[in-house]
Amino acid sequence: MTSTQSATQRLYDIVEQGLCIGCGLCESVAGRETVTMMKVPSGYQHPVVIGELDHATVDTIYDVCPGTRVDGLPDGLISDGATVDPVWGPWRRIALGWAGDPVVRYEGSTGGVLTALAQYLLNTRRVDFILHVKASTVEPMFGEATLSFTDADVLGAAGSRYGPTAPLLGVHDALDRGQPFAFIGKPCDIGALRNLARHDSRVDELVRYWLTPVCGGWGTPIFARDFLERMGVDADELTGFRYRGQGCPGPTRVETAAGAVEAHYLDYWGDDASQWSLPWRCKICPDGIGEAADIAASDAWPGGAPTREGSVDDPGTNAIIARTIVGQELMEAAERDGALVIERDVGPAEMSEFQPHQVRKKVAVAPRLQGIADEGRIVPRFEGLRLDRLAAEQPVQVNTSQRNGARERIRGGKATEATPRPVESL
Ligand SMILES: Cc1cc2nc3c(=O)[nH]c(=O)nc-3n(C[C@H](O)[C@H](O)[C@H](O)COP(=O)(O)OP(=O)(O)OC[C@H]3O[C@@H](n4cnc5c(N)ncnc54)[C@H](O)[C@@H]3O)c2cc1C
Ligand code: SF4
Ligand code: SF4
Repeated sequence: MTSTQSATQRLYDIVEQGLCIGCGLCESVAGRETVTMMKVPSGYQHPVVIGELDHATVDTIYDVCPGTRVDGLPDGLISDGATVDPVWGPWRRIALGWAGDPVVRYEGSTGGVLTALAQYLLNTRRVDFILHVKASTVEPMFGEATLSFTDADVLGAAGSRYGPTAPLLGVHDALDRGQPFAFIGKPCDIGALRNLARHDSRVDELVRYWLTPVCGGWGTPIFARDFLERMGVDADELTGFRYRGQGCPGPTRVETAAGAVEAHYLDYWGDDASQWSLPWRCKICPDGIGEAADIAASDAWPGGAPTREGSVDDPGTNAIIARTIVGQELMEAAERDGALVIERDVGPAEMSEFQPHQVRKKVAVAPRLQGIADEGRIVPRFEGLRLDRLAAEQPVQVNTSQRNGARERIRGGKATEATPRPVESL
């Protein structure tokens, strides 16, 4: 920060340097009369300053924003009996399984495990509500924060959303209710809420369960637009959009007033991971595997993606990583009471076979951060995630290539976003 920088520009630096993943926490911290999340001309959802933002608030934002800070599982939650895998982090039990209710398994993104666990938490009165996201009611390709109080609410929010999604937009409103709840968000959202716990004691008091999908990132707005173009649909005509679910992965469904068209998951994402177009923050993500959650749930496709043939009748199987005592107790209680079916235990080696892209990214983060530092940009503080140790195990030339690659991206403008402005101010 330079002494002449305004508080607003300091917040915008996070966005302009490609570090904002759009979680919404800064709006909740600053107050919606000061900072508001909105769709900006690039198609992302970013914070726009609309009131008097002060430096003290921006200091807090820098300390909680997952673009600038992400830590691993708090030390106090790494229990005796947990193993800390260099790539996969702390875990007590990893198993393959799915929702006990076939409807939940079918509707869910993979095998419905997160939905089943959330319903179980409500039905056993362990929590009063779930803070998570559903399909946006305004922007069909976006996700939108929601509070779920019933099985039907939770089921209505099932499925993964690969567009802009701000689960933490109203987190202070959720805390103000003073009721115990569970949070489901991407690993970066979990990291942000853990960060907030250092500033607001109500977080650790009220957030009783922390659940996350393992996350490789989501599609940039350009990537989404290109998909719609291939489908022959104008974004303005969209009335509904479902990325996946109703099978595993299930069809990608595009709805307009004229009707619905369906495509395969691979028509959206491409046939291999090199075709994914992700936000810059996802490319330097230190934790797509939900290290700070009680439970992380992932896909279990060998090689990291479905095949067109294999996914026709796939009912969905999650890999479920229980990281904490709380997470393991929940997983086993849910199995005992029929909310989950556990097929068999697996370990980190199999996880790496299911998620080769997560392994590749995890070992590349430290040199990419060096490239960011070389270019004089904000270097996010990612701690407790073994990043230096993982990079030290890589050949020097590989690390150099990752470092130089990050520098080239930055110099080429591929890690830069425009100053946030409302679409209508164009
Ligand atoms: C952006 C993204 C990227 C992913 N990348 C990978 C990957 O690389 N490898 C892998 O194995 N799995 C990945 N997943 C996870 C996978 O798609 C499933 O979500 C996961 O297996 C859990 O399946 P489920 O059937 O238990 O989920 P469901 O029972 O369908 O529950 C999904 C839950 O996730 C919440 N949710 C959905 N989208 C979002 C979002 N954008 N932000 C916050 N919360 C959300 C919903 O509110 C719901 O509660 C990704 C998911 C997302 C959202
Ligand atoms: S990542 Fe979240 S907290 Fe950080 S600037 Fe973006 S919306 Fe705000
Ligand atoms: S890849 Fe990382 S930064 Fe990107 S959405 Fe997933 S958890 Fe967040």
